[in-house]
This record gives sequence, C-alpha cells and structure tokens, in this order.
Amino acid sequence: RIAYVNGRFVPHGEAFVHIEDRGYQFADAVYEVWAVFDGRLADAEGHFARLERSLAELGIVMPMSRAALTLVLKETLRRNRIREGLLYLQVSRGVAPRDHAFPAEGVRPAVIVTASRVDRAAAEARAARGVGVVTTPENRWGRCDIKTVGLLPNVLAKQKAREAGAVEAWFVDELGLVTEGASSNAWIVDGDGVLRTRDTNANILRGVTRLSLMEVIREAGLKVEERPFTPEEARSAREAFITGAGTIVLPVVSVDGKPVGDGSPGPVASRLRRLYIERAKARSV
Ligand code: PLP
Repeated sequence: RIAYVNGRFVPHGEAFVHIEDRGYQFADAVYEVWAVFDGRLADAEGHFARLERSLAELGIVMPMSRAALTLVLKETLRRNRIREGLLYLQVSRGVAPRDHAFPAEGVRPAVIVTASRVDRAAAEARAARGVGVVTTPENRWGRCDIKTVGLLPNVLAKQKAREAGAVEAWFVDELGLVTEGASSNAWIVDGDGVLRTRDTNANILRGVTRLSLMEVIREAGLKVEERPFTPEEARSAREAFITGAGTIVLPVVSVDGKPVGDGSPGPVASRLRRLYIERAKARSV
C-alpha cells in the first residue's frame, strides 16, 4: 500500500508524521472520506465544500486547490490499484512545539491521504441483511458540524456497538432524540411513508451522503422531513437506515436488540441505496 504524506507518495509502512503534529497532540485536524466507485470519487464536490468549511471554521488554510487535491486523491487510488474503496484525507494545523494556541505564521498544514479497498459484494450482502444499532448518551462537544479527528466519544460508542454485535451506535440527546450515528446520519421511514432525519442546524455533521440522498428522495417523488426521532419511534417505524460515505445507505433492522418493523431491510432503504449508487456513479469524477 502507498500513502501520500506532505507532497510525497511513500510505502504505507513508512508513512510517518512528526510527534509534534498538532493533529496527534491536540486533535487539531480535520478529515474527509470519499467513497470510490469504478475508480472515481463519489460526491466529490460535497466533500470538498465540507472540507473547506471545516478548515475555515478552525482557521486552517486549504493546503492546496481542489484541482491539485483531486490529482493527489486520484494518484493515491492509481498507485494502490483501487477501483472500489474509500479515500481518507487528513489535514492538521501542522507541526510546532506543543502550545495550545495556534503556532506562529508560516507553519504549514500537514496533509495525508490513504486509500483502502472495499469489497462491494460483501457490502451489498450486508445491506441485504441489514444491521443492528445500539444507543448511547450524546456526550460530544458543541461543534460536531466540524469534521475533526477528535473522535474519542465516537470511538467509545462504536466499541459499545461492536461488543453488542451491532454495527453502529446512535447518540441520543437529553431530550431522548437521536442526534446521529458515530460515523453516519440516522433516518427512519415513518408510518406515513415519510422519510425523517434530524436537521443539520442541530449539533451534527452535515453528511454529504445525507445531502445527496435528499435530492434522490425528491427525484423519487418521496417526502422528507428534517425532524428528529426517538429510538422508540425508530423501532415502531416502517424502516430505519443510516447514511455515510462508508455505509452508503444501510438498512437498520434492530435498535438496542429490538427489531425495527418486521426486523428485515425495508423496500425504501433498499431502493434508495440503489438510486444513490446510480446517481453517485453518474456524477463521479
Ligand atoms: N456523522 C458522523 C459523525 C460521521 O462521522 C459521518 C461520516 O463519516 C457522517 C455523519 C456521514 O457523513 P458523510 O455522508 O459525509 O460520510
């Protein structure tokens, strides 16, 4: 495997960053993940836009143009011979002597890119079976709209899911409403067939897959409402599913071990998964 580190492609096992990289010491870094279909980036623009926004919110300069970054991402795919997979980009504020406040002018952001392969057949088989989620109290900071690498609450939530034999953990706020998953946005299809997902003015990540799926939903003539739901509402809904670059659209068949609907993936989520993939492929770069 080959990784990109600050302007160079190096063997994955020799790809290092400095011990005083601020991403390492302070989680002072942002990231993006693109799904790759047929060797091309899905929702490229949406991810670039969110990357630029995350960086701007933290006062980190975009390390290179979108065009240059696209070349780096594609070259990483090419060198790894990956056609189906994921691209991971991380930009930290850079390397500087440890001090919480921003470093002096002239410290350049550190950029790394890695690519990993996805077994699409296995992913489709999993989507056909559906997955379980567990719930866990929301305990993250107030800026979950910034895609930072400060992911410890997400790590602990995901581990809780893993230990319960589930695939995702849904954070639940003090009002008993689902905010989002540890690495995905959460959705239901309610009793009237209306799609529901939390609005992004709340403290959640503005999922790029979520946004694209909104268009797919409208094109399909379905109704969508940006309103949160409780785990109980998810269990009594017709369907539930999660979205993200890694999961695409993935049916949820149980919440805390209790079935959603009849406990099998629903037709809406399965259809939206197919439509999203078709649309993403048609627009990929
Ligand atoms: N919410 C969180 C906390 C995430 O980490 C992610 C993605 O990894 C998402 C939602 C889904 O975002 P996207 O569709 O842009 O991948």
